Amino acid sequence: MKPAVLLLSGGLDSATCLALARRQGFDVYCLSFDYGQRHCAELDASRRVAAALGAAEHRVINFGLAQFGGSALTDTNIAVPIGGVQPGIPVTYVPARNTIMLSLALAWAEVLGSRDIFVGVNAVDYSGYPDCRPEYIAAFETMANLATKAGVEGVKLSVHAPLINLSKAEIIRTGVALGVDYGLTVSCYQADARGRACGQCDSCRLRAEGFAAAGVADPTSYLA
Ligand code: ZN
Repeated sequence: MKPAVLLLSGGLDSATCLALARRQGFDVYCLSFDYGQRHCAELDASRRVAAALGAAEHRVINFGLAQFGGSALTDTNIAVPIGGVQPGIPVTYVPARNTIMLSLALAWAEVLGSRDIFVGVNAVDYSGYPDCRPEYIAAFETMANLATKAGVEGVKLSVHAPLINLSKAEIIRTGVALGVDYGLTVSCYQADARGRACGQCDSCRLRAEGFAAAGVADPTSYLA
């Protein structure tokens, strides 16, 4: 089996991405991050998802983005917006987060002898984050091949973003077909310690709209 490294957040998209990578025959090494986000429920979810979908290994790495703040997800003085998805890049964008995470995935991939990195970013039903777009993923892949011993010695590294052009409903239908239990996942930006979702933040709204559009019962546990 070929090894792949996958960024696993504990949310709906990365769980689906993991199921797709497993279906493609990869041994999947999952990487999650404690970067100073508001809650640890998503890390609990990532452990459940990694176990349920047969990850070869799951590691959680700490890096302290809360030292910088600058995002509603890493600075408790900045409120998570709950008024509905607005145009533009919202305050839930975390500066350079995906670049840092993908860089750590790249380091692990090179050590494992893996040529494949998976990331569950999505550019259709998303919040306008610059580091979720196809041109960003292509640029990171180009950089990865220039920056590594493996790349320079002719091993082509690929960054797979299989969800990037799918709607949230299409992602959910894909995951259901692959047996993903979305009840294990947590998407809310401000879930409580038990993983119960607020139902009002952008991530909750996009998730709920996705289940409705897919015609799939929403297994999310919501705060009363
Ligand atoms: Zn929420």
